[in-house]
Amino acid sequence: MSYSSESPDYIRLSTAADIMLGFASGRFFKNAFPFCINLLLHFNDGCKANCLYCGQAREIASSPTCKTLIRVEWPLRGLNEVIEAIKKFDHNGCSLRPYRVCVSSITNPKALNAEIEVIKRIYDATKLPISALITPTIFTKEAMKKLRDAGAERIGIAIDCASEELFNLLRGVHARSPHKWSRYLEGVVEAVEVFGKGKVGIHIIVGLGESEKDAVRLIQWAHDVGAETHLFSFYPEEGSVLDGWVRPPISQYRRVQLARYLINAELSRYEWMKFNNEGQISDFGVSRGVLNEVINTGLPFVTSGCPGCNRPYANERPSERPRNYPYIPRGKELNIIIRELNTYKPFTNNLNALIEYLRDRVSKDLRQLSSPEALTR
Ligand code: SF4
Repeated sequence: MSYSSESPDYIRLSTAADIMLGFASGRFFKNAFPFCINLLLHFNDGCKANCLYCGQAREIASSPTCKTLIRVEWPLRGLNEVIEAIKKFDHNGCSLRPYRVCVSSITNPKALNAEIEVIKRIYDATKLPISALITPTIFTKEAMKKLRDAGAERIGIAIDCASEELFNLLRGVHARSPHKWSRYLEGVVEAVEVFGKGKVGIHIIVGLGESEKDAVRLIQWAHDVGAETHLFSFYPEEGSVLDGWVRPPISQYRRVQLARYLINAELSRYEWMKFNNEGQISDFGVSRGVLNEVINTGLPFVTSGCPGCNRPYANERPSERPRNYPYIPRGKELNIIIRELNTYKPFTNNLNALIEYLRDRVSKDLRQLSSPEALTR
């Protein structure tokens, strides 16, 4: 086997995982240690997609190496070293230790075999539950079966954009990117067929330009086909096309978090909820008593993800209050959350504003767009 500085022999680690495994020094605010080791495939020719919010996008990445993702460095390490570092936690008797590994793919033809091989090597050595975060653009249903047979326990699919229009604009045809909305939805259904209900999660990034109604509609769709939703709050990636786009108001994020929890816990449904003219949730479709009880558990505001994936501070600076809590918020923190849930600011980070923002920054195709409706063509 050739030994190059690419996957599967090499892999990138999130900064948090790098610290947790002892490769780098650092501390975790409020001791919120990550319980999932997040890994990312690496190829010298980088990612072939062009998602406009991503620091790895083909057309903006200055180099395929040494780049950031969700604003942090992802150092490159040898896979064998990483496996040995994970194994050091074996038998240490501590209840708090990494208990999941997530292997994230990029859009590169070499990713198919590399993802399977990385998962196989980690699973054979550690027997930890492994999530494979993949793109249906290159992972067919057959490839998903191979991932399962290699040891993957779950599948994650980052749809990211909560509507077809937004998807086409930011990571599909209008972004000169290969991804297709229909293939992503089909891929979610295939993943559930291969891995089973409750073993598949979609990622949605809140605040890209979708309304709360768009986000809730997709969460309900995913739930109905047997997939969970894992939420992220948009934070501009330096150097990406969207690096000047606004972060969503925290009130928008809190309402989508609460709706997500109610839908995935089967306490409410999209059809039962009400939305105002700006597409904001005005009624969660449950009684006030049930709603208060759910809010007071604090659970809707904890990081949504595969079991163990608490992703501390992936959506904000450590000095800020978490959007996704890596612990259960209580007391004062919960009081602030309740205020946030009840704050309704005008919905200015919408699709029309996004089209305006992008008009001078991207391709001729986009400059020709006159309205959101044109994005479905
Ligand atoms: S929720 Fe976490 S572990 Fe699951 S696929 Fe997403 S990043 Fe990976």
